[in-house]
Amino acid sequence: MTLTDSTAAAASLYQSEYGQFIGGEWVPGATGATIPLRNPATGETLAHIQAGDARDATRAVDAAAAAFPAWSQSSPSERQAILYEIAKRLRANVEKYAMLDTLNNGKPIMEARYFDMPMAIEQFEIFAGAPWRLHGESLNTPNGVGIIHREPLGVCAQIIPWNVPMIMMAAKVAPALAAGNTIVLKPSEIVCLSVLEFFKDMADLLPPGVVNLVTAYGPEIGEPLVTDPRVRKVAFTGSRPTARTLMQLASVNIIPQTMELGGKSANIVCADADLVAAAEGVAQSMILNKGEVCLAGSRVLVEESVREEFLTHLERMLGRVTIGDPASDTTHLGAQASQAQMDKVMGYLELGPAEGAEVLIGGGRKQVEGLPDGLFIEPTVFDRVDNSMRIAQEEIFGPVATIQTWRDEDEMMRLANDSDYGLGGGLWTRDLARAHRLARKLETGTIWVNRYYNFVGNMPIGGYKQSGFGREFSDEVLNHYTLTKSVVIDLDGGPQGTFGG
Ligand code: NAD
Repeated sequence: MTLTDSTAAAASLYQSEYGQFIGGEWVPGATGATIPLRNPATGETLAHIQAGDARDATRAVDAAAAAFPAWSQSSPSERQAILYEIAKRLRANVEKYAMLDTLNNGKPIMEARYFDMPMAIEQFEIFAGAPWRLHGESLNTPNGVGIIHREPLGVCAQIIPWNVPMIMMAAKVAPALAAGNTIVLKPSEIVCLSVLEFFKDMADLLPPGVVNLVTAYGPEIGEPLVTDPRVRKVAFTGSRPTARTLMQLASVNIIPQTMELGGKSANIVCADADLVAAAEGVAQSMILNKGEVCLAGSRVLVEESVREEFLTHLERMLGRVTIGDPASDTTHLGAQASQAQMDKVMGYLELGPAEGAEVLIGGGRKQVEGLPDGLFIEPTVFDRVDNSMRIAQEEIFGPVATIQTWRDEDEMMRLANDSDYGLGGGLWTRDLARAHRLARKLETGTIWVNRYYNFVGNMPIGGYKQSGFGREFSDEVLNHYTLTKSVVIDLDGGPQGTFGG
């Protein structure tokens, strides 16, 4: 199937306009203004969403706050049944949600089907069991007993980006619900068609107000949502500037935050590595979701002695990448998600040579036959890069990698850790002792040895340094959605005699 073939069929998968989902119903937005959702491969408008404001945020918090007492007291089996049913419905409709993400985000359908959707489903499956794991603890003392209860926080504000909307939604919604919280979710105003349809399809499963969804331009809604005194937590995934704003807003009522921000992850190739596997892994990490992945291993650090051989393999791999119609099963590299993102990446493609880097592969926009307005970019490799260059330090979020070389482990470790970010990373070596040694020294939240993007269910993902704080995708996130309460009961009874009885 191709985009042209599928457009007519796909149009039946979504509505032309969406309201706000508040208190279990779709309601008109307060402003009446809308935002278009576009298809970045064709430029066409797919649907319109509400351009919400403070009034929508307040209504959504009203609904979430009203739903909290009953939901927080629901039984583990009730929450488990709902989360598991959500997973089952998602699994039964993979093709629908995959196509919606392909249409709105420009990601290849093969990725949406075999990467995004399984990971999103898995989040609901993992956290379906979580209500049973959320038990407290007790401690015996010589004359008493201490009980540690774990309690939900209350209303949680969750704000997510446009790159992997179903994964982001699932990673936020599933654990928060499992722990007994209620939610106001704000998806990205650039890509959210799949998330809107998800809320529509699951509306009958959850009591009204337990999950609410508000669409808006971010700055219109950040302040009223995050500073509402009934909101007890903010969970954010997105850029550093927005994170800084939200952290200040969260300081108003001193609410906890989790921040999952960007990355500029090192992909380290040692001379003893399987260089074909390493080149394949680097190429995959460049093109997955068009490079619009916070964990992309885009800073390639190659041991000097194997530089030529590694680059030969990388060039061969990238030469086989099919760029084009995201809805085609044979496409590896789709369209950048928005004009703004396209402009940002193109800016870096101009900056690289201006900073003194050499373009080894690609370097420009790609015209795809039949899709003249598509936002396509060639996979691009910059060679002879210095770590101080902006292309080596700033997150490009496109199919772009930089190549640097090193001669010894100290030099390599200095380069790898010389970054404001610390989210992911790759290490390619056949020497396992070396892998353990180096992995411990890297300042980053995840290191994949000998296979990039090797996601294992229920392992934490999150940042060091300016990649943020908090860990999602694993049971650790449940700590971010619960508070502990310590209750101490004295077993002796009676006065202690301090004042003589
Ligand atoms: P962004 O910060 O511009 O937007 C993210 C979300 O925040 C959107 O929903 C947006 O509407 C909202 N927003 C923007 N300003 C706001 C404000 N003042 N108040 C409240 N909400 C506001 O980021 P983006 O461009 O959508 O996403 C790309 C970024 O996300 C990249 O830096 C990427 O690395 C990061 N990201 C990180 C992870 C992770 O897990 N660490 C995953 C995906 C993306």
